[in-house]
Amino acid sequence: MLIGGGWKASSDGATFNSINPFDAQPWAQVPAATTADIDEAVGAARRAFDKGPWAQSTPLQRATLLRSFGDLIRDNADELARIQVLENGKLIREVHGQTLALANHCYFFAGVAESPTGETLASSVPNMQVFTVREPIGVVAAITPWNSPLALLMWKLCPALAAGNTVVIKPSEITPVSTLVLARIAQQAGFPDGVINVVTGAGPAGAALAAHPGVDKIAFTGSTAVGKKIAVTAAERLARVSLELGGKSPNIVFPDADLPNAINGVISGIFAATGQTCMAGSRVLVHADIYDQFTKDLVERTAQIKLGNPLDPATEMGTVACQSQFDKVLHYIEVAKEDGATLATGGSRPSDPELSRGLFVQPTVFTHVTNEMRIAQEEVFGPVAVVIKFTDEDDAVRIANDTSFGLAAGVWTRDVARALRMVKRLRAGSVWVNNYRKTNHVAPFGGFKESGLGRENGFHAIEEYTEVKTVWIDTGNTITDPFNPRA
Ligand code: NAD
Repeated sequence: MLIGGGWKASSDGATFNSINPFDAQPWAQVPAATTADIDEAVGAARRAFDKGPWAQSTPLQRATLLRSFGDLIRDNADELARIQVLENGKLIREVHGQTLALANHCYFFAGVAESPTGETLASSVPNMQVFTVREPIGVVAAITPWNSPLALLMWKLCPALAAGNTVVIKPSEITPVSTLVLARIAQQAGFPDGVINVVTGAGPAGAALAAHPGVDKIAFTGSTAVGKKIAVTAAERLARVSLELGGKSPNIVFPDADLPNAINGVISGIFAATGQTCMAGSRVLVHADIYDQFTKDLVERTAQIKLGNPLDPATEMGTVACQSQFDKVLHYIEVAKEDGATLATGGSRPSDPELSRGLFVQPTVFTHVTNEMRIAQEEVFGPVAVVIKFTDEDDAVRIANDTSFGLAAGVWTRDVARALRMVKRLRAGSVWVNNYRKTNHVAPFGGFKESGLGRENGFHAIEEYTEVKTVWIDTGNTITDPFNPRA
C-alpha cells in the first residue's frame, strides 16, 4: 500500500488474492489494510495537507504535476489496461482506449487548476472589496468500485488534486492492483509524499476510512445500498460527500428511429462491459408498433454475441467480474422467470467447454416484462436486458421515470422535436439521443434520485472538491456605530 510516500505491507501482514475471472486463478496478492493502516494513511494525508509542500503549492505547480501524470499514464497505458482486464474481465477492446483517455482528465484538470474560480461581488456599502475564493476541502477519501477501476478513480483524483486536496484511495477488493500501479505512476510524476495514499481491503476498510474523523470529504462510487450507508456516516460529522450510485436506465426506441442503429445502440447499452456499468441501458422500452420485429431482431443479434478471452480484441463480451456477481446475475434470471417474464435468449452459463472455467453468463434478453417486476426495478449489473412495450410518449415517460434511480436514459428517434420533448421529461443525469453510454472529461456525470449526489467531470467537478470562502476587505471606512454592522 502507498502510505506517506512509502510502500507498505499491512501492519498485521494479512493479504488477499486478486482473482482473474477468465480462468478463476489468483494472479496477485494484495495487503489487507488494518484500521491502524487506515489511520496512518489519513494521518499522512492530513500532514501533507496541513504542513507539507503541497499546502503551499501554486496552481501552476499542481497543473504541471497533473500534466506529467497524464503523460506517464499514456506511456504506461498498455500495462494499466492489461492489469484491469486481469482483475475484472472487461474487454481489452474497450479498456485500452478508456485507459489512454485518462490522460485527458489530467490535462483538463491541469487547466482547471489554473482557471479563475473566485468572483468579485457587489458591495452594499462604499469602500468595501468583496470577493470569493475557492479553497480545497482537505483530506478526501476516494472509495471506488471494480467495473472501471481507474476511470472512476481519475474522475475523483484529478479534480481533488487540481484544487489542492490530499487523497486516501480505497479501491475495490476485486480490482486493487491497477490502483496501486497508478499510484506508483503518480509518484513518478512527482506528487509529494502523503498527497496520494492507497489502502487496500474489502468493505470494512472502506467503512473505517469513511468514518475516520480526519477525512473531510468522501467521494464514493458504488452501489446505492453502500452509498446510503456512507451518507449516514458522513452526516454524523457533516463531512462533505459525493455519491455516484446505481441505475436501471431506460433505452427508449420509437418507430421513427433508424432501427438498425438503435439495435446496435441497445446491444452496446446493455451488453458492452457485460452489463457491468452503472449507466447500462438495462430497460429497453420499445413502441408497440415495432415491438415484435424489434424484439426478434434484438434477440437474434444478442444470440450471436461472441464470448471469449477479454484480452482477445475479437471478443465481444467477457466474463462477469467475480463469483458473487456471477451468483447475483443468475439469481436475478430466476427471479425474472418466477415473476412471469419470458426468457427469449441466454439465461445460463454457456455450454462451450473453452469457457467453462470463466465466470461467463450468456447475454440474456427477457421479453413481456412489465415495469413492476423486480427484474425491471432492481439493478442486476450484468448482461440482462428486459424489453418493455409502450404505447406513446406519455407512456414511455411514465415507465422510464417509474424507478428509484435516475442515472441515464437513451432515446432513439429521427424526430428532433420529439427528442427534445423526451430530454426535458426524463428524470436522469445524462440523456443520450441516438447514441448511448458516452462520457468524457468535460461532460458532467451523475445521478438524479437514488443514483447519487453531485457531479463528476467538467467544471462542475471542482465544486465537489472546494469550499467557497467570502472575503470582505474594508478599504477606508471608519466604524461609526459599533452596534449596527450594516452602518
Ligand atoms: P459496492 O458498493 O459493493 O463497493 C464499492 C466500494 O465500496 C468498494 O471499494 C467496496 O469495498 C466499498 N465498500 C463496501 N462496503 C462498504 C461500506 N460499508 N463502507 C464503505 N465502503 C464500502 O459496489 P461495487 O459492487 O464495487 O460496484 C458496483 C456498483 O457501483 C453498482 O451498483 C454500480 O451501479 C455502481 N457504479 C456507479 C457508477 C456511477 O458513476 N454512478 C459507476 C460505476 C459503478
